[in-house]
Amino acid sequence: MEGITLALQLKDKVRGQIYADEPMCRHTSFHIGGPADVLVIPEDIPDLLELIRLLSDLQAPFYVIGAGTNLLVKDEGIRGVVIKIANTLSHINRLGDGILRCGAGALLPSVCKNAALAGLSGLEFAGGIPGTVGGAVAMNASAFGGFMAEIVDTVEVITYDGQQVRLGRDDLEAGTKTTRILLEPLILVEVDFALKQDDPERVRKRMEKYFRERAHRQPLNLPSAGCAFKNPTGEGAGRFIDAAELKGVRIGGAEVSRLHANFIVNNGGATAEDVISLMKHVQEVVYSKFQVMLEPEVRILGG
Ligand SMILES: Cc1cc2nc3c(=O)[nH]c(=O)nc-3n(C[C@H](O)[C@H](O)[C@H](O)COP(=O)(O)OP(=O)(O)OC[C@H]3O[C@@H](n4cnc5c(N)ncnc54)[C@H](O)[C@@H]3O)c2cc1C
Repeated sequence: MEGITLALQLKDKVRGQIYADEPMCRHTSFHIGGPADVLVIPEDIPDLLELIRLLSDLQAPFYVIGAGTNLLVKDEGIRGVVIKIANTLSHINRLGDGILRCGAGALLPSVCKNAALAGLSGLEFAGGIPGTVGGAVAMNASAFGGFMAEIVDTVEVITYDGQQVRLGRDDLEAGTKTTRILLEPLILVEVDFALKQDDPERVRKRMEKYFRERAHRQPLNLPSAGCAFKNPTGEGAGRFIDAAELKGVRIGGAEVSRLHANFIVNNGGATAEDVISLMKHVQEVVYSKFQVMLEPEVRILGG
């Protein structure tokens, strides 16, 4: 079904924002990606439930994204509907006993700032990770030895057939940059973080330290999707890429960052094909030199 036809079918029943043939380069930190047939930002949870019901009736495939900071969308775009949970479901509420309740669409930097102001400790490691709470928990985002899943108390999810379920931390079955939310898949709508009361000034200082390290190590001035590859057990992927002398190698507009070897940056006009070719090249060279097969961390959508 064409994007505009599908969008018109949703228009009268969905209250959120609906875009037909929406370029995904507008919704990814890489600034890369062809059009999604339809992109919807639901207004609230009932709107999301109604949207899923309609899509099921129409037999239209759908994909859930957050702020698109870990995504590479192919140049051909995405057939079906992208449900974007960012700039919506973005509440942040302190419940007492160290519980911080956040909508999946809340931006992680805002959540971390909120926690620091309240003297709630546990999120310091995540202060500079871009994207939403939903994306961070679904991916079990990590930095400086901290992992998102470890500070989750419970989450609220919606199954693809429209059931609302609350899950505990262990139910997430978190692994390296993955959880049950990605594998099943489920739609994450709310997260309760279990944090510890501390002195606000001490929390702020620890968070700032991680911010400074990040700014020093990562190419934050160029579009990217963070680390391109998962770290193989016990070693950083970047060490292998660096040792293979791949820093600065370029295909089209995509380049292996000279600052952080595990970042592929969009140096201007990169296509998804450029990035995918560069990732394959990196995998081949690293494998031929070290017999280590690097696994993509960036989630590739569409095509
Ligand atoms: C400069 C930079 C630095 C980064 N540093 C780090 C870092 O230190 N550590 C780290 O782990 N990552 C890092 N990343 C990657 C990325 O920011 C994180 O993985 C982030 O948590 C992704 O959140 P998002 O909202 O952008 O998710 P998206 O990129 O939109 O989605 C990522 C995945 O999560 C799924 N998803 C998103 N929201 C939901 C939801 N509500 N329900 C179900 N599934 C959902 C999507 O389907 C997709 O598979 C970095 C990225 C950049 C650009």
